Amino acid sequence: MTESTPAAEQFSSDRPFVFRNATVITMDQQGVLEDADVLVIGRDIAAVGPRLEVPEGTLEIDASGGIVTPGFVDTHRHMWQSALRGYGGDWALSQYFVFYYLNWGEVFRPEDVYAGNLLSALESVDTGVTTTLDWSHGLRTPEYGEAALQALREIPGRFVLGYGNYLGAPWEWANAPEFRDFVSKNFSSHDDMLTLQLAFDVPGASDFPERGAFEAARELGLRVTTHAGVWGATTDTAITQMYDAGFMTPEITYVHSASLNEQSYQKIAATGGTVSVATESEQSAGQGYPSTWAIRKHGIPASLSMDTSVWWSADFFSAMRATLSADRSRDHLEAHARGETIVANRLRAEDVLHMATMGGALSIGLEDRIGSLTPGKRADIVLIKNDESPAMTPILHPYAHVVYQAGTADVHTVVVDGKVVKYQGKRIGLPLAPVRDKVAASVEYVRSKLGEKAWTEGMHPEIPVDEEIENPYRYTDGDAHVVARAHD
Ligand SMILES: [Zn+2]
Repeated sequence: MTESTPAAEQFSSDRPFVFRNATVITMDQQGVLEDADVLVIGRDIAAVGPRLEVPEGTLEIDASGGIVTPGFVDTHRHMWQSALRGYGGDWALSQYFVFYYLNWGEVFRPEDVYAGNLLSALESVDTGVTTTLDWSHGLRTPEYGEAALQALREIPGRFVLGYGNYLGAPWEWANAPEFRDFVSKNFSSHDDMLTLQLAFDVPGASDFPERGAFEAARELGLRVTTHAGVWGATTDTAITQMYDAGFMTPEITYVHSASLNEQSYQKIAATGGTVSVATESEQSAGQGYPSTWAIRKHGIPASLSMDTSVWWSADFFSAMRATLSADRSRDHLEAHARGETIVANRLRAEDVLHMATMGGALSIGLEDRIGSLTPGKRADIVLIKNDESPAMTPILHPYAHVVYQAGTADVHTVVVDGKVVKYQGKRIGLPLAPVRDKVAASVEYVRSKLGEKAWTEGMHPEIPVDEEIENPYRYTDGDAHVVARAHD
């Protein structure tokens, strides 16, 4: 016999459960299945299909009116920066660099990395991002790395530690004995819940010193994630250096890749690399135009990422929306410039949901384990269902519904590695309060360390007077006057 609407406490690792009567987006060759079930046994997806026969004692989750998708995969998030959520909402990229390289970069501690990671990891599992690559570039010593890992182990999500240290030289730290000890201590047994990559950038110095870091990655058998195509910072020169040295392989993820030339995109395509597109970041911080419009012409696989919550949320629905809209926006603008109009959108909702799931799995090398609802794969699953939300009815175009209609408030159930971590809209055994307290303590530390003046100025960078545009229609009285005077 089975039970309907089980209580959260009934879920346990050895008890099978099944989602019943959902719209199932498999992201594999089965496509979308209406009124279908997904059965989970142990860590894995056991079966997908209509009216599944299930083992005795299986818990039943009523998923009618909902959409079941694979868990989302974020391939680039500086998780430690979530401790300063929203602080840089008005920043340009230069203010980010000043703050993290000079001001805060001087004083942050391992517990600040831990607090940010804890909050970010909790947010991931809460919002259906079952796998997150922590682009952790503040690991100035392995002690910081241990702090980052501690948080990733405390939250039951799937994570990839992208080990990085922007305050050091990658060819040095990647070859240092203490880093090698850190790797063998933490990553000697293979566990797909927590894996390791190297995270470093190639600014294009003529002697290409990053060669030593790529060699370390090769020696350790690790993938590399690197910010590429960031306007003025990492350019086509870096791609040329990597290509000429033979380091462009399928094991490389190029983050942003937003301002590269055709030759660079061809090199990425020819060597089997993937691109992590962080649309909201690229639109706001100016790395370049979000690159899906360019890379899709080369057949380069894309994944999605949020980059950092010091500016943006970690909301993957937002990532999908922004990406689809930016791609279409580019096509429209280019067509208008030719005096034409777009009569068919090239990028489809299905494509961005693929980027958010299978594309991410491919980018981190776990495409055989996660990214689709395929029997035999790990059970990383999201049920999007909200019976009281007007936005959740009717469901006519399931891919478009996930991308443009649903939101984080509709994340009903989240499963990671066969474990139910959220159910009926509530996390199971993962309270916010202790995390909030640790983050509050971290914020208090940074404020006191920087001083109130630097803290406030850091949050509100001035708009240079010479950037104000002469506007003959500017109001001189009334409320608009206040706006104009704010720049005085
Ligand atoms: Zn980044």
